[in-house]
Amino acid sequence: MAKDKKLVDKVYVNDVEADLVADEQFSIENNTGNDLVEDRFKDFEFVNKHTKTLKEFIVNDEINIVDINKLAELNGISFFIPIGWRSLLISLVKELDESGWDREVSCIKEKFAQLRFHADQADEDIIEKYEQLSEITCETCGGKGKIRYDTWNYVACRAHYLENRGLVLVEAGGFRISETYFQWSDVVSMEFEGLDLKEDFHRYLKIKVKNEVQIQCNLAYNPFNIYKESIGYGEFLKQIPGNYRELNYEYINRYYSEAAYCEICGYKAVYNQQCECCEAETWLSYSKGSVYREKVEYLTYAQGNWVKDNGEFYASKQDQYPKNPDHRIL
Ligand SMILES: [Zn+2]
Ligand SMILES: [Zn+2]
Repeated sequence: MAKDKKLVDKVYVNDVEADLVADEQFSIENNTGNDLVEDRFKDFEFVNKHTKTLKEFIVNDEINIVDINKLAELNGISFFIPIGWRSLLISLVKELDESGWDREVSCIKEKFAQLRFHADQADEDIIEKYEQLSEITCETCGGKGKIRYDTWNYVACRAHYLENRGLVLVEAGGFRISETYFQWSDVVSMEFEGLDLKEDFHRYLKIKVKNEVQIQCNLAYNPFNIYKESIGYGEFLKQIPGNYRELNYEYINRYYSEAAYCEICGYKAVYNQQCECCEAETWLSYSKGSVYREKVEYLTYAQGNWVKDNGEFYASKQDQYPKNPDHRIL
């Protein structure tokens, strides 16, 4: 999808080093000729510029991502990781080196929003530690993040998550998901995934479009998913025409027929005690669980989460929802 493309561009291809990383034409055969190796890195400053074998490879506090490129190449592999994970990877290599690793590595990549590093002779505990760290490190900026669910999973801090957050907009005769417009008549079926009526819960909406539409719009997947974390999701559900056999309209009518104002962010975006805008649960929902806080205390806490990092950025981005004029930050 267009959205996938945009995110991938943003995360992976943003500077000359990333291009270097993405260059996959160097195979194992190429690595036997050292001229080629040096040529490829000639415009970069790095510790191992003149290193010719794995044995000579220097690991110290000055190594950078180009050193890691060289390490990969000396191992006969190419690698592809998000920009935000570079310092993690460099720290991993340093720590493995201190533990007496032989510098042999067969795979460095991202999979399912996690850094993967395969090295038979390396300390597994160290690798595991960094794999876990990657799950809480923003792929774009390296800040504190968490795994986000969209058309695919990725790790993002709050600011980058909001920037990349899914958006579904109802328009005349159909709807738009990021840049891609669909007519209602393009859609073959819609169905909730993970629908649990006892828990009033579902994970996402699965949509299948006509095959020719998939080709036309260059969609990687069909069916594809719209996650309930997407902006505009509640409004979208409300306006789906009533002719999709697999869709549970009763569930939509019960929980998505009318949004309520959120006491935390002030926007009209609360469906089923969960705010689509600030993504916090309402006081009512919170107080049903184990209550640690009084209402005012909870609201203050949740509002703190909402405005903490980039208050203005969040507020200015919420033009999808009407705002309660009486709302105030406590
Ligand atoms: Zn970030
Ligand atoms: Zn809210």
